[in-house]
Amino acid sequence: MGHISTTIQRNKPILLKGIPRLIARLHPEHPKLPVLQKQLYRIGAGYSGECNVDSYIERTQFPQTVKIFTDVHLCISPKCTFQIDTLVIAERYVLIVEVKNLKNTVRFVPNPPHLEQVLETGDEVVLDCPVYQIEANRLNLDEWFRQRGIHLNTLGLLVLANPNTKVVDAPDNFPIIYKKQIPFYLQKLKPAEKILTPHQIRDITKQIYAEQQQFNPFPLCSFYHINPDDLRKGLLCRNCHGRLQRKNRETWHCPRCIKDAEDPYNDAIQDWFILVKNSMTNSDCRIFLSLKDGNAARYVISRSSLVKKGKSTATFYISGDKIIRL
Ligand SMILES: [Zn+2]
Repeated sequence: MGHISTTIQRNKPILLKGIPRLIARLHPEHPKLPVLQKQLYRIGAGYSGECNVDSYIERTQFPQTVKIFTDVHLCISPKCTFQIDTLVIAERYVLIVEVKNLKNTVRFVPNPPHLEQVLETGDEVVLDCPVYQIEANRLNLDEWFRQRGIHLNTLGLLVLANPNTKVVDAPDNFPIIYKKQIPFYLQKLKPAEKILTPHQIRDITKQIYAEQQQFNPFPLCSFYHINPDDLRKGLLCRNCHGRLQRKNRETWHCPRCIKDAEDPYNDAIQDWFILVKNSMTNSDCRIFLSLKDGNAARYVISRSSLVKKGKSTATFYISGDKIIRL
């Protein structure tokens, strides 16, 4: 029997695009800024850890039909949806892979389950227990399969993306490995019984894709409870986020970067949809972009990809851009 390798597709988290826009539009002394910067760092580290681990899963030679899903959102009741970063479905097992990109030393503490991270500085940080998180997701996923007439026991695996993470008091009934151990671990993982046929795997794949509920945190001002009035208005430089100065009708210039700006109107319109509201009126555009009057706003809108809705004074525009419409 031939071996099967696989390519993994993982989309960049939408907040990695959105949070930098929010940070760029907030005043440097805004109280929410430290939290946003921390969150941006955490999401970025998580994403790069996952991508890195993907490349190790891709190196694995699977002896059987296998499907790998990333960032899976599933629903077992209207009030219970759950999210899995990496899900491996094979003929002999269904495996939830949770990736943690952690620095320094982490200690597993039971009752209540949590993780204590001891930083180089000696400071301690309390984190969610990833094993507990996987166990909860295993139950959810088993239930999701049960609702589809399939009875199985999902497996879990915790992968440390950072080879220098030191683990203390790890639970001994749960597999925790470093990323370089993935190919060996997965090649060895071969329960005696087959639990899914290739046909069932194809069927489940379709259902998982059909159920993807896109996570949409936009507009971010509502998501993070920030007053849109706190945002800096006007056209901003892509590079330094400073206010652009007008050279002529078409051209804007950043005095700090000593560079002309490309398409600053559309950048600012995108910011509006990402941060403030999912529709825009002529007056929203005039105020948010700090344009001189309604005619200037009309001109900017007419050259954008915005789609017109409503009539006369009730006219508003929605984004034709897939990234921010979602
Ligand atoms: Zn600049």
